[in-house]
Amino acid sequence: MNVKRLLGLDTNAARYTFGVDPTVGYTSTQRMADEWIATTCGYCSVGCGMFIGVKDGRAVSVRGNDDHPVNRGMLCPKGLSEHHTLAAPGRATTPLLKKNGKLAPTTWPNALETMVKRFKAVQDAHGPDAVGVISTGQLVTEEFYALGKLVQLGIGTRNYDGNTTLCMSTAVSGYKRSFGSDGPPGAYDDFEHADVIVLIGANIADNHPILCRRLEANPHGTLIVVDPRVTKTAMLADLHLPIRPRADLALLNGLIHVVIEEGLVDRDYIAAHTTGFDELRESVREYTCERVAEITGLTPELVHRTALIYAKARSAFIAWTMGVNHSTKGTETVNAINNLALITGNIGRAGAAPFSITGQCNAMGTREAGFASSLPGYRAFENPDHRAELARLWHVPIERIPDSRGLAYPDIIEAALDRRIRALWIIATNPVVSFPNLNALTQALQGLDFLVVQDGFHPTPTSEFADLMLPAAIWGEKEGTYTNSERRVSKVNRACAPPGEARTDFDIFLDVAEAIGVRDAIFPGWEGPRDAFEEWKRVSAGRLCDYSGMTYEALDALGGIQWPFPVGATNPEASRRLYTDGVFQTSDGKARLLPTTWEPFPEQPTSDYPLVLNTGRTVEHWHTRTKTAKVPILDSLVPEAWVEMNPRDARMLKLKPRERVDVVSRRGRVRGIELRLTETIAAGQVFVPFHFAEANANEATQGAFDPISREPNYKQSAVRVERTMR
Ligand code: SF4
Repeated sequence: MNVKRLLGLDTNAARYTFGVDPTVGYTSTQRMADEWIATTCGYCSVGCGMFIGVKDGRAVSVRGNDDHPVNRGMLCPKGLSEHHTLAAPGRATTPLLKKNGKLAPTTWPNALETMVKRFKAVQDAHGPDAVGVISTGQLVTEEFYALGKLVQLGIGTRNYDGNTTLCMSTAVSGYKRSFGSDGPPGAYDDFEHADVIVLIGANIADNHPILCRRLEANPHGTLIVVDPRVTKTAMLADLHLPIRPRADLALLNGLIHVVIEEGLVDRDYIAAHTTGFDELRESVREYTCERVAEITGLTPELVHRTALIYAKARSAFIAWTMGVNHSTKGTETVNAINNLALITGNIGRAGAAPFSITGQCNAMGTREAGFASSLPGYRAFENPDHRAELARLWHVPIERIPDSRGLAYPDIIEAALDRRIRALWIIATNPVVSFPNLNALTQALQGLDFLVVQDGFHPTPTSEFADLMLPAAIWGEKEGTYTNSERRVSKVNRACAPPGEARTDFDIFLDVAEAIGVRDAIFPGWEGPRDAFEEWKRVSAGRLCDYSGMTYEALDALGGIQWPFPVGATNPEASRRLYTDGVFQTSDGKARLLPTTWEPFPEQPTSDYPLVLNTGRTVEHWHTRTKTAKVPILDSLVPEAWVEMNPRDARMLKLKPRERVDVVSRRGRVRGIELRLTETIAAGQVFVPFHFAEANANEATQGAFDPISREPNYKQSAVRVERTMR
């Protein structure tokens, strides 16, 4: 393969086209497609490569891309049925404006003019920051980049955040504190190269299913799964540590304590590449195996043995997801993971990394190019050099670049509750199902002067609150890029047109800028996503997330490229891992070892609420089911919510399997869901999937947040379970 040519470094390069007929070897049904469009899955952050089969302008099939380095042809049930989302019932097809209390069709010009007028009226009366914007991890990076510019330089509010704060902001904060920058250091290949793989709070069998195939490719590696439940992933483990809820931070400090006491640290790595070791050693003294055993429910011997297994590995890989992130101690837990990796030198090598697995298909894109918790290109609001650099790149005065971030997602909701925020623009997310403590959220939305909801579907539980509904294109109907969990930027391509009058989010952002009168100033000469990509390449140049050497053509042909990939780079393998030289993004180039402190979770069980509620996902559904409820095969596999309970608790409560029960917390009640009795959950705990608007687990969850990342503590709420009254 002529990589140089694909990267545009060969001036004679012709436009790349696939040299192989992608339908070779497939069934006659699949061959019904006239054309196969290469793209990337739009659900989770694994970032599987696939083809959409198109016939007569409609998506009729999908299949995995055998040549894609991420999934090697495989897809999970959601990916395999993804084309059904495009022609699903309930697609939003026309702008709707509320009139006499009801949403009614309107034109795009009137919709945009009304939106801009109402936002301006709010800002004139209450200040620029009285408008808030909440976006998503579902857009393409080009759209995030455009939206960030539009919000900050066009609308002029700092109060912009994404639903990524509900899932990944903890990993971002943890990486920034330890390494000086966001950015997962490892790669999926590490699953295959590691001697020891530790998964903490990461049920990848349900949440990131194709990654399980990487475990299969490493039959000699030892898999340790740390999870209060015996999840499908725990069933794959060589060693399952069924810790008590939120005991992860104590366990990690206990492992660090043992590693230090046993002299298993990598002294050379610590001396050359870290600061803070003495303080860390002092801070973990109290985390003896006996104390950690009391907190976690494991035995002291098991804590000790686990530490030795990890520290004696030639390469050890720790990956985590929401079990760690969804916690008021989440950022500190990420720092403890990073501490353990750093003191054993398990970073920057094959099979060795502390690796956050992201949730949404392009949560990483908004982290890199958005304008929410960082300035674009992982620049810091508080760094004057970073602001000056951005101002220079955008030809605007430095005063236009804010020197601090605005409100995070939960704080935008709180500001709406107390009327500091009066107008809100919600893009491609469904907080009425996904936000914790639903009652507070609905009060906030009802109290707004003006709510704009932009989504590919209507009605959704959130769009029903809207004063203005903007219909948007979804995956399969637009072009751009996604970044997956291993920093791989992959191409997303359009296979068919959006329905009715729906437009791409990118076009909507350009049109809003036009209506405000700033389009030429902030999007000079832009016509399509490629223009945004070219500008973003310049803005990212020289940063850790450097895209400047990429081209759309190379991304299409190679199945994505991991950043950093600067101008002139020709070897996509060179960016497989970060920090291979041990130089971090801090002022002195050294990683920070940070003391952390375990605390019990905030809402402890009581006699009225004696059980600990855990929430999570199932493989068949995606987030709030806006899409997957409309895919018949997925909906028929898992049509409704349930609660899992240990049989001992059920006996005490005199409940029988398959009875209808309510899960009740101080804040609300999840009504009439099926009771499933299983030993996979410990006595004293219950589990409810969070996908279902009809039986919304977030009726019961609490409004407690990590003080650093602002991520919600979804995982442990005190509840009781009682028979549903008819
Ligand atoms: Fe899509 Fe994730 Fe399934 Fe891959 S694992 S097909 S990216 S949902």
